[in-house]
Amino acid sequence: MEFESTWAELSTVGKVRAGDGVTRLFGSSPERELVNWFRGECASRGLDTVTDPFGNMIGWFGGRPRGREGVLTASHFDSVPQGGAFDGALGVVSGLAALDRIRDAGAAVERPIGVGVFVEEEGSRFGQACLGSRLATSALSWSAARELRDAEGVALAEVAEGGESALLEGVACAVELHIEQGRQLDALGAQVGIVDRIWPHGRFRFEFLGEGNHAGSTPVDQRRDPVLPYAKAVLAARELASAPNLRATFGRVLVHPNSTNSIPRSVVAWLDARADGQAELDLLVADIIRAAELAATEGSVDLTIAVESMSAESRFDRRLAERSVTHRRSVTVSSCAGHDAGVLADAGIPATMLLVRNPTGLSHAPSEHASMPDCLAGIDALASLLRGLASTSDLALDTP
Ligand SMILES: [Zn+2]
Repeated sequence: MEFESTWAELSTVGKVRAGDGVTRLFGSSPERELVNWFRGECASRGLDTVTDPFGNMIGWFGGRPRGREGVLTASHFDSVPQGGAFDGALGVVSGLAALDRIRDAGAAVERPIGVGVFVEEEGSRFGQACLGSRLATSALSWSAARELRDAEGVALAEVAEGGESALLEGVACAVELHIEQGRQLDALGAQVGIVDRIWPHGRFRFEFLGEGNHAGSTPVDQRRDPVLPYAKAVLAARELASAPNLRATFGRVLVHPNSTNSIPRSVVAWLDARADGQAELDLLVADIIRAAELAATEGSVDLTIAVESMSAESRFDRRLAERSVTHRRSVTVSSCAGHDAGVLADAGIPATMLLVRNPTGLSHAPSEHASMPDCLAGIDALASLLRGLASTSDLALDTP
């Protein structure tokens, strides 16, 4: 594969207008276009392609692994609405490019090498991040997932066959290459980073319930306005998460009835909180909740808080990461964002990640970018890691 021209062609898929970024929701025609492209690439290389009942796919070079022997590299094609072209797709396309290098070099491989695609990693359609890999590892059961619905009310069961996945049978270890979602590598002058862990992450639903009333006839001291404690909670979250190892974001809010001349009756807002460590995360969330509760009490507003999800820290395989330190311009970093590789690691599959420098630091945005030399350095690092893993009979990894 000539990576540069292939990438130039693929990076416009799902772009409606220049400057818009790409929109490749799971099951949409741009995402299917990329999946079909991948299927064709697997076929033209004679790879043995396995698809599971959710649409996750792996093309195996050297035949399907029979025992636990396969070396997998995988990422995703779906994007957030108006996202960047690199997030996800870079990992899959680099996987095929790395496989070509190994094949072209005629390197002897003892283990099958698989290049894979997980569906609905962003959760932009059905609301659950890493949905495909969670289903493939049984971290999420089909019975729990089948009734998930998209914004149009379409159930997952209507677009995916569902059932049991045998996709990851035979996978000995996995590597995901991804564009960096931050600026750590740029600051360190490194083209490629190796990820040692993914921060723990929680999502919380805050419902502030006040009293709807007239915006003109109700003096401010007689109001039970839920926007006020919500606003104080946002400010508290910002203040409490000011240290570099903490993140807190209220990124989604619904105001009812959302009318200019009405005092709102309720505000529902979602907090996304992350930290470098579970204890730090628990403390951060407890402090934000305390501040929100205090503000609600002061404003005579009721507050209900629900945990919507809590993901523990994902630890990547230390020895696998050590094997990755082959590129002279690579460093070890941690990831603040979740990935399919983290789901695999949580399921007991030794995994690691390679990040490609993104000097913009932007992610889930049209301007996300990695330079061509950095993309090629990523492919170099991935090819050398996969080749090393596939040519040894004893992987000697940390994860049992
Ligand atoms: Zn991604």
